[in-house]
Amino acid sequence: MIQSFPLVHSDKARLRVQLWLVFFGWTLMVLLLLLWSLNKEDAEMLELARQEAIDNFNKDQAFRVWATTHGGVYVPVTERTQPSPLLNHIPERDLVTPSGRQLTLMNPAYMLRQMMDDYADLYGVRGRITSIKPLNPDNAPDDWERAALESFSRGEKEQFELTDIDGEPYLRLIRPMQTQAGCLKCHHNQGYKVGDVRGGVGISVPMRDYLATAAVQKREISMGLGLIWLAGLSAIGFYAKRSYQRLEERKDYEDQIWQQANFDSLTGLSNRNLFLDRLDHALAYAQRQQTMVALLFIDLDRFKYVNDALGHVTGDQLLQEAARRLRLCVREMDTVSRLGGDEFTVILPAISEGQSVARVAASILNELSRPFDLAAQETHVSASIGITIYPQDGSDSGMLLQHADTAMYQAKEDGRNTYRFFTWEMNREAEGRISMGAALRNAIREKEFLLHYQPIVDIADGQIVGAEALIRWESPGRGRVRPDEFIPVAEESGLIVPIGDWVLQQAALDLKQWDRAGLKMELLSVNVSTVQFQYEGFLEKMADLLKANQHLSSRLFLEITESVFLNEHREPGVRLGVLRQQGIRISIDDFGTGYSSLSYLKRFPVDKIKIDRSFVRDVTTDPEDAALCEAIIAMAHHLGLKVVAEGVETEAQWQFLRKSGCDFAQGFYFSQPLTVGDFTEYLGKHRNMMVVG
Ligand code: C2E
Ligand code: CA
Ligand code: CA
Repeated sequence: MIQSFPLVHSDKARLRVQLWLVFFGWTLMVLLLLLWSLNKEDAEMLELARQEAIDNFNKDQAFRVWATTHGGVYVPVTERTQPSPLLNHIPERDLVTPSGRQLTLMNPAYMLRQMMDDYADLYGVRGRITSIKPLNPDNAPDDWERAALESFSRGEKEQFELTDIDGEPYLRLIRPMQTQAGCLKCHHNQGYKVGDVRGGVGISVPMRDYLATAAVQKREISMGLGLIWLAGLSAIGFYAKRSYQRLEERKDYEDQIWQQANFDSLTGLSNRNLFLDRLDHALAYAQRQQTMVALLFIDLDRFKYVNDALGHVTGDQLLQEAARRLRLCVREMDTVSRLGGDEFTVILPAISEGQSVARVAASILNELSRPFDLAAQETHVSASIGITIYPQDGSDSGMLLQHADTAMYQAKEDGRNTYRFFTWEMNREAEGRISMGAALRNAIREKEFLLHYQPIVDIADGQIVGAEALIRWESPGRGRVRPDEFIPVAEESGLIVPIGDWVLQQAALDLKQWDRAGLKMELLSVNVSTVQFQYEGFLEKMADLLKANQHLSSRLFLEITESVFLNEHREPGVRLGVLRQQGIRISIDDFGTGYSSLSYLKRFPVDKIKIDRSFVRDVTTDPEDAALCEAIIAMAHHLGLKVVAEGVETEAQWQFLRKSGCDFAQGFYFSQPLTVGDFTEYLGKHRNMMVVG
């Protein structure tokens, strides 16, 4: 359930709306333009027709003026031009030309009607005069003409309309006809004066040709605009495609950024960022629903060893495979994250009981302890898991994570490859460790440490051959703190390096005092922690120490533990060789408790082994431990190594060790670790004298 930016989706919707708006806007604009153009076309056509009508009207007027000024025209009498009964009162109505041709006077109105009829027959243009008080009944107005004539009396100058005449389209135009002086000849008895509107002259122009031309024009305009519309559409389409593309690109880019910001590039798991986000969500949900959330903090054991010994590429492969296995152990709804290094977390939201969490933890341990096939080599790691449960172990993600880390630390303490549920007791211990770190820093500054010495006895003759230096911390606030308590904290914080330096310097000084006092010390054992041994500048520091303290040569024994051998990357063999060359001897401390691969003894240059006191303790009661002790001694001798038994407390143990051929012994049976003063006294007292026996 990878969530992505909702941003792009809303952007897409916005773009879609935008595109539709542009599309509708463009279409509307083209449609309006089309309507306007078609209207204009109609108006132009109408204006042309009107102009034609006006031309005809003007001609009609000119004829009429001419006719009225000249008072009629004599024409030969024909069938169409019979003498007019209306002109009976005129004596010279009919004339005979000297050549005998019969002429008759034609009344101008009558003449013009005939001309108009002819014009109509020839060109389709019809003319007609009309009057409110017509002399000729044919000139009576129709409804439209009557309305026009009425409007003229109100001062209008023209009316026109589109109409049908005998099923054909026509433009009909009418203009007022004003009474001229000549008109009164015929119309004087109707009561008109010069200037009165007597009627109107109507002209009808056929529209067929105009309409046909306009139709062609309109079609062309429509097609042209249609093409422009389509061109606009394709531009919009192109723009849309580009915009979508750009959005997609941006989405890809944002996805990539989001991926980088939220996922671990090596394993593909969510990273710390997303982990915290998911945890916060799970907690908020659990709070609303009154359920629990479990947080598992997983740390691989010995991962550093794999990384150092087999290289980073192999280390990366291991992490990838571990991530894959982790995912197999959880449900779809659970979140597996890598916080960094070899630290992983699992969020189990909505759990009902701790039992199910324990099952998940156990299955994770099981999965991770199966061998890893890496670099053509089977590798084994395991994991330590700390578990916290919301709400009992913490109310927010920071607290839960910190407490899970504490529980994980406890799992490591308890021997690794296990899981631990967080307890508030652990928290107190963890807090104790933190405050102890600060106190240790202070102790170094304030020189709160001192050394005690425990004698080492040669079993063969019962004489003291030397001592082991054991650190003591006299803290003003905490009282005497046992090294078992503060050494692990010093190792974790790196403070063991300056502390260890001080131990070596102090032991060298003390040995010099005993040498000066003529007290015999064949050897001086100093404990060196693995962190200190592997520290970068350790070899140089030892070289400097030996140069400044020649008296240490071949008498200083460094007690190291087997964990030194585990980090092959630090080349323990080479380091031990260099130390050997400087005249330093090596003891393997706590032998038998660690990884105890006997092959180490063969491979690495060491001088001595110290049998751990847990074996020595039971040699007289547990036959198995007795057998083990004897075997270790025999084997060490076989390899040319000396053996020290530590923790010798009783006569019986001493006798057993003597019988077994052990070389040296150390323990409360001879002496507790003593202050420098007490040890000096002890040495003086037992000079050339057996300590026991
Ligand atoms: P270790 O190196 O195994 O030291 C022997 C521990 O056994 C000492 O405890 C000593 O007091 C105790 N011991 C000696 N004889 C007997 C005995 O007969 N019976 C019993 N039950 N215990 C005996 P201590 O001094 O408390 O030191 C504990 C551990 O602290 C040491 O174990 C060593 O690992 C570490 N340590 C002590 N001093 C130093 C130091 O200067 N540097 C480092 N790195 N570690 C140190
Ligand atoms: Ca020791
Ligand atoms: Ca020991």
